[in-house]
Amino acid sequence: MQEIIIKAKGIEKSYGKTKVLRGVSLDVGRGEILAIMGPSGSGKSTLLHSLAAITAIDDGSIVFLGDRIDNLNDKERTLLRRKRFGFVFQFGQLVPELSAVDNVALVALLNGEDKTIAYQRAERLLTEVGLIKKKLLLPSEMSGGEMQRVAIARAMAVEPEILFADEPTGSLDSFNSQRVMELMTDMARKYGMTIIMVTHEPSIAAYADREIVVRDGQISGVKK
Ligand code: ADP
Repeated sequence: MQEIIIKAKGIEKSYGKTKVLRGVSLDVGRGEILAIMGPSGSGKSTLLHSLAAITAIDDGSIVFLGDRIDNLNDKERTLLRRKRFGFVFQFGQLVPELSAVDNVALVALLNGEDKTIAYQRAERLLTEVGLIKKKLLLPSEMSGGEMQRVAIARAMAVEPEILFADEPTGSLDSFNSQRVMELMTDMARKYGMTIIMVTHEPSIAAYADREIVVRDGQISGVKK
């Protein structure tokens, strides 16, 4: 049996009077690539943000490698996310004033890592995503697909145990979507990293080992 990296039990979350998650329980294995599918507004992003310690939950528990993470304070949450998780969102959310290589090195620098090491790693990662020649370009000088590949390199820079992705190809055409997915999943296999991603596109979910479907704040189905 594969090691469990995330164990969520009975997660509940409301925004005001709207109950968004109604008792979600889920185990994710280390190295697993999991897709969260479901209709718009069903609670997919809220689930992803809860598992990633971005959003505080109202009830239930989330255990990451044996430790509860749902009851951490804001500072502990921030550190957990910065040191152990990586994030890729629909629009890369790169820092617009920073070059590609500066964007990739940034989190390691924030974590207090040595500058030379942070930049060596950033260059290696940009080479892996095929963008070393564009390392000095600003996000505004790159295409959407290139920005998303820089965002993946940046997410990988802290060697995260889990990569959380919310519609990571949502802003891309189909060629670039496939390329970004291949890159993310190849890196996950290479480094034994877990991916938890939200998508509404079956062709993107097809890259996952397992697909769960969220409907009205509950898991209504599992595929694979
Ligand atoms: P999905 O990702 O499946 O489209 P979400 O998790 O984004 O669904 O949203 C589920 C429901 O929760 C929606 O009705 C949305 O309006 C509501 N919601 C999500 N985030 C917030 C928030 N920060 N404040 C208030 N309501 C929210």
